Amino acid sequence: MRTRDAWLLVTGEPCLLCAKLIHHAGIQRVLVVAGGYVGENGCTYLVEHGVEVVQVEGPQDPRA
Ligand SMILES: [Zn+2]
Repeated sequence: MRTRDAWLLVTGEPCLLCAKLIHHAGIQRVLVVAGGYVGENGCTYLVEHGVEVVQVEGPQDPRA
């Protein structure tokens, strides 16, 4: 699958190793769902290397 300029949705901040893989795969934008796993500076690495990082709300329970 082509990943250059793709968007990636993740359920938590990626670790540094994954952030490097994301960057080198040419992914353009990473959507991080709030409240997920808290990683180790992966978002900082992505931003410093020109990958857009967007924090998004996860799916909400409609009964709440
Ligand atoms: Zn990882």
